[in-house]
Amino acid sequence: MAITDDLSLPGSATAAPDAPGPGAGLRARSDAVDVAATAVIETFDPRSAKLLAIVPDMNAADVRAAVARARSVAAPWAALSFSDRAAHVLTVRDRLLDRAEQLVEVICAETGKQRAEAVTTELMAVCETIDWYVRHGERLLRSRSVAPGTMAHKTARVHYEALGVVGVISPWNYPFTLSMTPLVTALLAGNPVVLKPSEVTPTVGLAIGELFDNDRWGALVQVVTGGGATGEALVRSGVDKVVFTGSVSTGKRVMAAAADTLTPVLLELGGKDPMVVCADANLDRAARGAVWGAFQNSGQTCMSVERVYVERSVADAFIDRVILETGGIRQNDGLDGAGDIGSMTHAPQLDIVERHLADAVDKGAAIVVGGRRIEREGLWFEPTVVIGVDHTMDLMTEETFGPVLPIMVVDSADEAVRLANDSRYGLNSSVWTADRELGDDIAARLQAGNVCINDCIVSYAITGLPFGGVKDSGIGRMHGPEGLREFVNTKSVMSARVHPRRELWWFPVPASLDAIGIRSMRLRFGSTLAAKARGLRRTP
Ligand code: NAD
Repeated sequence: MAITDDLSLPGSATAAPDAPGPGAGLRARSDAVDVAATAVIETFDPRSAKLLAIVPDMNAADVRAAVARARSVAAPWAALSFSDRAAHVLTVRDRLLDRAEQLVEVICAETGKQRAEAVTTELMAVCETIDWYVRHGERLLRSRSVAPGTMAHKTARVHYEALGVVGVISPWNYPFTLSMTPLVTALLAGNPVVLKPSEVTPTVGLAIGELFDNDRWGALVQVVTGGGATGEALVRSGVDKVVFTGSVSTGKRVMAAAADTLTPVLLELGGKDPMVVCADANLDRAARGAVWGAFQNSGQTCMSVERVYVERSVADAFIDRVILETGGIRQNDGLDGAGDIGSMTHAPQLDIVERHLADAVDKGAAIVVGGRRIEREGLWFEPTVVIGVDHTMDLMTEETFGPVLPIMVVDSADEAVRLANDSRYGLNSSVWTADRELGDDIAARLQAGNVCINDCIVSYAITGLPFGGVKDSGIGRMHGPEGLREFVNTKSVMSARVHPRRELWWFPVPASLDAIGIRSMRLRFGSTLAAKARGLRRTP
């Protein structure tokens, strides 16, 4: 369905009239932004190219005001017990469940996703994350004591404290999950959040803001809509941490801006995930996995299978199966979100897909399935399989982020691993083999934050597993214990258990302290009895 007044748009979005394309007239609503007086951005339904909504393009003053509102509740929110914070987040999750159908509509309308994809990878993924952290968060954030070592007369404890206000900047490909995951994790760790959703999917961001409305913690989650300048204003606003999910190039700009104030950053960036298919792999499963991994969400997943390396002895059989499976994909052409995959989301991304394909064909690759835009309104591209590729081609080295599966034939699993690692990216990866030891061995050798064996992408769905990248794919981790502790200050507290008048090493330093130090080191750290015994002897 086209989003018009039929679907109530959240927050300060103005519903667009049911008129085609950009530039259509605006129908103001009483609760909507004054589009005449405010800078705005427009958002479109990529399935039909229809104008969907108009939202404010907020400036630095708007962002600072939102951060100030969030900061006003930071101390009382951090002072709540974990279980009180969890209870609040669970109320929000119930609201999410109540509104599940409506949220799916908003997500599909702004991304072009297929409905089941929106349900599983957006709503269910967020419910899972909340579930895992609600179950484990209290234990992970509980203060703990540490053995004091040589300082046996001291006590040592680690405390985890909220950071303050967290800024979350999210992309358009999973606008709900990639906003909500850092957001709820930050909240559970004790931090209010200011969210800047992608300018391509702002109404999803506003729908998130609405989930947190109508309760006594109204300022806890603020949503600021706008483009890159709004995002940069958030980075420079004095927030206590920035979680950025997006492209490598923007991530570098975020990190550079954050450096001015030494604001810590967590960066979840792009990927070029390799799939290694060994000669002994179950080819039916590997081919189906490759096709799903490359084309789900129209290839617009940071962990999409973006390149396959298959051993020569099974290459033909594997490629035949991939071609067959790809031909069977049901690409929905309507607005009901049915079928296997939907449209693409962002027009510039189609240009990148076409550029990468043209470059590959120029350099000798062959498109064996698809390869073209679909001639209809909206952002539709055929699922595409390419063979005869190599690393001189952008298709094998740069993130394509579209429904394209390039397959390269290699002479051995070792060559596959070498080529898989010949990349500036290192997000997810996969190896497919019947040999468990070989799978583990290749997993250990792949340079990536995440590896799947005989599967792809769905490691993200195991919320206890930390998720993140190496190399250009990012810094820091979401999910798992590491993901929660991204949002706390790890404070170490040491306490003098006994209070002698002076410590041995205080001034004036005793003349014999160096000799005492050497003897006690030998006693304590000598690895054999003989070595320890030397600590009992006086140094001549
Ligand atoms: P993008 O970098 O263009 O934009 C991401 C966000 O950054 C948007 O909200 C945008 O408005 C904002 N932004 C732009 N300029 C900014 C600036 N100077 N300062 C602060 N914020 C700024 O990315 P995109 O096109 O929205 O998303 C696609 C990219 O995201 C792909 O590269 C994909 O691989 C990556 N991604 C990574 C992960 C992950 O977990 N590693 C997940 C999803 C997407």
